[in-house]
Amino acid sequence: MIEFERALQEVLNRARRLGIESLSLKEAVGSVLAEDVKSKFDIPSFHKSAMDGYALCAKNLESAPVDLRAVGTVPAGGFYPGKVKKGECVKIMTGSPLPEGTDSVIMIEFTKDKREPGWVRILRRVSKGENVCLQGEDIEKGKIVLKKGTLIRVPEVAVLAILGRAKIKVYKRPKVSILCTGDELIEPGYRLKSSHIYNSNGPMICSLLTSMNIENQYLGIAKDEAKDLKKEIEKGLRDNLFILSGGVSMGDYDLVPKVLRSCGVKAIFHKVSIKPGKPILFGLRGRTLIFGVPGNPVSTYLTFLILIKPAIEEMMGKEISLKIEKGILKTDFRQKPGKRKHFLPVYVKMKEKQGEVFPVKSYHGSADIASLLPANGFMMVDADVSFLKKNSKVDIILW
Ligand code: AMP
Ligand code: MG
Repeated sequence: MIEFERALQEVLNRARRLGIESLSLKEAVGSVLAEDVKSKFDIPSFHKSAMDGYALCAKNLESAPVDLRAVGTVPAGGFYPGKVKKGECVKIMTGSPLPEGTDSVIMIEFTKDKREPGWVRILRRVSKGENVCLQGEDIEKGKIVLKKGTLIRVPEVAVLAILGRAKIKVYKRPKVSILCTGDELIEPGYRLKSSHIYNSNGPMICSLLTSMNIENQYLGIAKDEAKDLKKEIEKGLRDNLFILSGGVSMGDYDLVPKVLRSCGVKAIFHKVSIKPGKPILFGLRGRTLIFGVPGNPVSTYLTFLILIKPAIEEMMGKEISLKIEKGILKTDFRQKPGKRKHFLPVYVKMKEKQGEVFPVKSYHGSADIASLLPANGFMMVDADVSFLKKNSKVDIILW
């Protein structure tokens, strides 16, 4: 059995980048950029109107209200071909280029149509540059807009689009397979037989991966029987990362470690000094990372967050999001001292930059997945601690 910190290091040491690929913009969300992205042109690429109104020269309005000749209209996507002279203005729509000879825009609300066609009354003055977005004010030509290593979220997709990029170089994201094991498991949607339970880890692990934009292949439920297990395990070992749920503890039917070994998987560690989640197994075959997580759902959830998610992030070039922060415990806390670091579901309420930590009162162990419903984090308590007083500082991990 090894300590959690050591286990995380062993995992990260073996999580290798998978190379670079070119993705279309639509597919890129959730990936990490593998190139610096420069702008090839100014944005906006011309001085543009920020309002619907009239483009004019501010100094012509010194004696406003004043009547000007409206000599044309610029629709969005169009332009005014001539030069605007003294005493003239051009009707303009939001986003259109400013005609030559103008330097500002008066909002339509501050103008009045005159009876005589072709004339407009301007009711107030504007300052030079009012309601105009200057060429290059958002992004200057030649500037590095997005650096290699940036996570592509939705705003990054939109910025790549305005730069005209249809494809983008990113680090490959791992492909992940999931296999659940256990003769007692039934998929949700089917009839529950006595002494059976619904499989919650399958949907849970797939959803954890989907929420990270990681492609996942669900292999279903394997029986607690070596031949069936081996057949399904061979399928999962083809991907970059393989997660198995259940069958890694000490029971008579916990066959996963043995069958993995017979498939050529080398165990790096089996058992980590954490509660829950102790029986977790981590192994390698070729470049495939294999995690066997204990079947109790809180163990599965926790070990995904603290070991599997960091591995995936490392493989895809993303900064590790796992952070151990400090919070203030808002009740007294007691536990029976043990040998393993204890992770307990807590609700953390942010108050003036400091998290107030409320342990979930009803939590009664690793099978109790419902205890995660009111929670948004885990509190970490060292094994030898038996009592923590209200207002003690505690380590927390937020989801
Ligand atoms: P195991 O890790 O196979 O020894 O299972 C430990 C406990 O977790 C047992 O009570 C199992 O019934 C339960 N369990 C195992 N797999 C799942 C699963 N996929 N979904 C929900 N509970 C599970
Ligand atoms: Mg089992």
